[in-house]
Formats: sequence, C-alpha cells, structure tokens
Amino acid sequence: MTFEIREFILLHITMSGAENTGGNRELDVFFKVEYSGFTPRQESWVKNSIRKIGLPTQNLRRVVYLGNDIDGREDWLGHWQRRNFDETHRGELALYKNLEDPNLPEIAHLETMVHELAHANSPLRPENSYNYGGEKNRQRFEHLSREVARQTKATKVFLNPYHAHLYQKLQSGEIDDDVFVEEIQAILVELRVTNPNHLRQVEAAQIRKMIMRGLGSSVSFFDGVSDALVNLYKHGGNPDIKGRVELEQHILKVRNGFGAIPASQREPSFLQVA
Ligand SMILES: [Zn+2]
Repeated sequence: MTFEIREFILLHITMSGAENTGGNRELDVFFKVEYSGFTPRQESWVKNSIRKIGLPTQNLRRVVYLGNDIDGREDWLGHWQRRNFDETHRGELALYKNLEDPNLPEIAHLETMVHELAHANSPLRPENSYNYGGEKNRQRFEHLSREVARQTKATKVFLNPYHAHLYQKLQSGEIDDDVFVEEIQAILVELRVTNPNHLRQVEAAQIRKMIMRGLGSSVSFFDGVSDALVNLYKHGGNPDIKGRVELEQHILKVRNGFGAIPASQREPSFLQVA
C-alpha cells in the first residue's frame, strides 16, 4: 500500500473514530507507530522495550529493522530520521544490529534505542518544547548540551568512543557544530540511562582538567541531564516520574529489565550517525 493511500485511511479512521468512540481513540489511531522488518517475536520485543524505556514516543512514526549488512553502514547501530511523512515532526527510528546475536547483549540494544529516542526528542528543535514541559526547559537542555560541547573541545575528555569519533569529524569539517551538539545530547541521555556511573566519571574528569589546566569556567552536567530526563518523562506520558528520585528508580528498573552488562565488557561499537 502506498503511503498516500495508507495515510488517507489513517486520517479517515481518525475522523470517524472521533465521531464514534470519542475519548482518545482518534489520537491512538493517528499516533500509531508502524513497525517493519521485524519477525513477530522481534517486533513484540522491540515494542515492549520502547514501552519499558518510557521516553516520549509522540514523534515516532515508524520503527524499522535494517540489519547490519547495508553497504557502508556495517558499523551503524541505529538512526533517527525525520521524514516529511505528514508534515508533522514525526520520523523513523531504525535498528541495524542483529537482534538475535547471542554476543550482542540486550543492553546494547537498550543503548541504541535510548540514543535514538533522545534524537526523536531533541532539545535542539523548538517544536519539541512541549515534551520538556515548556520552551524554557527545552532551552536549558540545549544550552547544557552546548556547554558540554565547549567543555569537550577544551578538555578532549570524551563521553565515549563515538563522541571522540565525532570530535574528529568536527575537526575535519565533516560535521558542523550543531550536529556535534545534537549527538552530544543523545549520548548524554543514553549514558544517563544505561551507565550513570560512567557519566559521573566523565563529568568529574572534565571539570578536573578545566580547573587544573586553567581552561576557563567548568560546567557540571549530570544533574542537568537528570532534570531534562525528568521533564521528558513527566511531560511525555510518565507523570509518576516527578523528580530525580523517581527517575533513578525508573532507570534502575529499565536497566535491570535489560540484563545490564557494563559497556567496558563489550566491544566498543560506536559508529552510528543521524
Ligand atoms: Zn546519534
């Protein structure tokens, strides 16, 4: 079925649904996320995983499984692409890595999903302010991400190997500063959920270096990332997450649900873009 026809049907159901059932039925239909490329078992695992993570999914239009044999993308883990699907800001979240590979633990897929969901809710896009509970909250996280970019350039202390790789691309002019910051915010969210201890260590190492080398004013970011996540949860469908305490409990539950294995025990896989 072509997109246009399917979209027409969706809208049609939306409108008749509004008349017949009332409530949020029309929204449920309109915001339905399309899954493609998965076996039924994989689809239900991914759906369940995204639900467990609990980040806002209003911007998700499609989730696709691409596999990692696409030419030139062998190292990709995932992508987020905004498409002009229906002139909204919704887009496509793709997973590349083998979901059945016993050598690739579930936590690796968790990292990818959180990272891409962070892109889907990017603070660099003003239209996402509603998901942060307002423009001020969105701007605060955008500003923080830019500050981390500044501190990274000054210290050369990176959040993870992918971050270091992006810095090389920034230096060689392959990406611009906005792309660098966009990736940083996604890495911050990813690490806050999957490896908070590591995030704290990087924060401490950056600040230490800023002070010892006299590199200018240093910035703490751990709590700011936590607050951005609280905002995303609180305003994006998880009102029970009211503050950092509830955030910590939720994140712990998510990580335990994915059989967390420390990133240090895995192959460093870091090349993914978009
Ligand atoms: Zn990314």
